[in-house]
Order: sequence, then structure tokens, then C-alpha cells
Amino acid sequence: MNVAAFPVTPPVATVLVVDDDRLNRVALAELLQPDCRVLMARDGASGLEILSREAVSLVLLDVSMPGMDGYDVLRAIRAAEDTSNLPVIFITGMSDAADEERGLLLGAADFVHKPIRPAIVRARVMAHLRLARQRNELEALASLDGLTGIANRRSFDEAMERAIRQTMRTGDVLGIALFDVDHFKQYNDHYGHGAGDEALRDVAARLHGFARRGGDLAARYGGEEFVLLLPGCANLEEVMDTFRQNISDARIPHERSATSNWLTVSGGGVVLPAMSPAQSREALALADQLLYRAKAAGRNRVLVERA
Ligand SMILES: [Mg+2]
Repeated sequence: MNVAAFPVTPPVATVLVVDDDRLNRVALAELLQPDCRVLMARDGASGLEILSREAVSLVLLDVSMPGMDGYDVLRAIRAAEDTSNLPVIFITGMSDAADEERGLLLGAADFVHKPIRPAIVRARVMAHLRLARQRNELEALASLDGLTGIANRRSFDEAMERAIRQTMRTGDVLGIALFDVDHFKQYNDHYGHGAGDEALRDVAARLHGFARRGGDLAARYGGEEFVLLLPGCANLEEVMDTFRQNISDARIPHERSATSNWLTVSGGGVVLPAMSPAQSREALALADQLLYRAKAAGRNRVLVERA
């Protein structure tokens, strides 16, 4: 697996402490601060507000609070898409097993009891942070293409569905660009599969550089085909042609290409209009047709249409 090309540096974990008892909050913060960034909230509503804008790795949640209690907060955490898998450790003063059972059924990861025993709390928090990190790493690996280290087809499909839903809300256009390496079979036959793989990694890394903004995604679509998803991109043709030029400027020798002395790509792009209820499959089929036409028209070119 060549995933080292785009390493994800694990940031210092952020832990959110939600407890109406100030002394408890301060004690937990002091306990965890050597290893984590600690945020604090005095009630459920402000805890949820922090979760909506901060990347939190774990929540320590008091069960008994005025207003929203811990169960209500946990339910809201599980209901929100961004936090549905977030590990939550309940802090409880009650030694009643029924409360623990209720919390576990709602999806609490663990319990700590008041009065707090620092070594136990620390050990549990660290263990759950480690588990969450491992889970995230596995998820990241499963969403990357093994050869090139950029996103794979599966994560592209998910990103595409998300992007379409988002454009329905925001009214932004959505740019979808398919690229295919020209005469790649001849490249492999002539230079060998090792060189072919190297060329694909090079193309992927360059495409990755074109996914600059938050919702952008560069992915390997399959074989020597790549895709670029650009929400809000109105000048798709310009972007695609810049990438096409970038590849040909890289001057990767391709003696068996009928198009050029160098490796080139062709592209088909579609701009989905704002608020379009378009199906992703139809949009991709249109991009694929345009790619095919770009190939038929002589390759090393891009064709773009509005859907
Ligand atoms: Mg309390």
C-alpha cells in the first residue's frame, strides 16, 4: 500500500467535558490536559454547540445535569451525522446498574464513577482515544486506493452523493471531471507494469493537487481512469485543461503513443446546474460519453458540457 504519499498526521486529541459541576470539570481538565486539548461545557446545549463547530475525539459526559441530561445529550450526539460514531464516556454518581445499562444501550462507550479516581479516568479516556484512532485509520485506509494513495472509487461514490445533496441545499453548481490516460495499454506493454504503476501514481499525485477546497475530491475511478469532484466550480473546462496541460508538461516519455511523445490524458466533464435533482449515475454517464468523444477527436483534450 502506498499510502505514505498523503500522510494524515494525527493531531492532539480534543476531549470535551460536559458537566454542570465546575469542580468536576476543572479536575477532569487538569487530569487530561497533559495529553489532550480539553474543552468544557457546563450544560448539554452548550456541549452540543461546541460539537457542531469543533473536531472532538471523545466526550466525557455527566449523566445528571439540569435541563438536558446525559441521556438526552447522547441521543443528540448519536442522531447527528458528524458525531454518530463519537466515543462518549458517561460520568455517573449513581451506582445503579440500570443506569449503566440504559447508557450502554444508547451507545455510551464506557462509564466512570464519581468521585473520580484520576488514574482510572485517565486510563479509560486514553484507551478509548486509542480505539477511535485505530478505527479512523482503518476507515481512512479502506477509502484510499492502494496503488496511488488518493481516494478510491468507494469514497468517490460517497463524496458524490454528499456533494449532490449539498448542492441541493446551497444552490452551487457541481463540477465532475473524468480523465483517462491516453494509450495506457501501450505504455504498460512497452515500459512494463512497474513503470505503468509509477505513471499512475504520478498522474494521481498531480490530480490530487487540483482538489484544493474543502469539498473537492480527487479519486482513482478504476484502471487508468481518474475523477475530480469540484463543488461550486463554474470554470470546470479551464481547470480540466490546466490539468491536461500539467500532465503533458510533465514530459513522461511515451514512445508508443500515437498522440504525443509524452504521456497525455483526455477528459470529459459535466457541470451540474445549481439545485439540479440530477442523478449521479446520469451525470457520470454523460462525463463518460464526453471523455469518449475527446478520445475519438484525437486525445490530449477535454470536453465539457452543462448537464
Ligand atoms: Mg451533574
